[in-house]
Amino acid sequence: MRIILLGPPGAGKGTQAVGIAETFGVPHISTGDILRANVRDGTSLGVEAKRFMDAGDLVPDEVIIGMVDSRIAEPDAVAGFLLDGFPRTVPQAEALEALLVEREAPLDVVLRLSVPHDEVVRRLTGRRTCDGCGRIFHLVADPPATDGVCDDCGGALTQRDDDREEVVRRRLEVYTTQTEPLEHFYWERGLLRDVEAVGTPEEVAASATAVLRQYGAPR
Ligand code: ADP
Ligand code: ZN
Repeated sequence: MRIILLGPPGAGKGTQAVGIAETFGVPHISTGDILRANVRDGTSLGVEAKRFMDAGDLVPDEVIIGMVDSRIAEPDAVAGFLLDGFPRTVPQAEALEALLVEREAPLDVVLRLSVPHDEVVRRLTGRRTCDGCGRIFHLVADPPATDGVCDDCGGALTQRDDDREEVVRRRLEVYTTQTEPLEHFYWERGLLRDVEAVGTPEEVAASATAVLRQYGAPR
């Protein structure tokens, strides 16, 4: 199954993506995660991307498209994938469409997680990520047992540079101007489905799974 997960920062895309990928047996491909790994490893791609990311701006389309092109060519992605954080612009969506036509591998569904904007700011500024295992906590909604320490691996919890409030506002603005037009793009193609991303993560996962089952069987 080929799935795109769409939704503003803070909709819980990352959390839901992991669950959906597991349920349907497809690799979770997150452009944000790939970029952050490059930043961490100090690759030339990472060095170039970091200044855009820290400002809450998008990394240039050519960079991202090349990255996704090579990732979906890997063997684990041949039978399907879940894209999280890509596409983010209409040119990215057009490039993906061309890549998939060439591979005769059409998309099955674009699932949009919708959530109100003020809720997004609240969620993101409280988000903390484990440096060790990547688990995501929330200071209010899902705090760790000990301040600043991961329940699972004991790693240190840190705030992403781009989760600071002023950057969060910029990311939302970028979402509205550059990414929201994709909803229309996929709606026109009959691929867009909506899930309200409010309630507990388990509730959202249940709604998402109910929609996705119409397109493919859980493994
Ligand atoms: P979010 O939590 O905001 O959804 P991600 O983890 O997906 O964020 O991405 C973090 C940052 O990485 C973005 O703000 C952007 O700078 C960059 N990025 C990720 N995916 C893309 C993309 N498809 N196109 C351009 N930039 C991207
Ligand atoms: Zn951890």
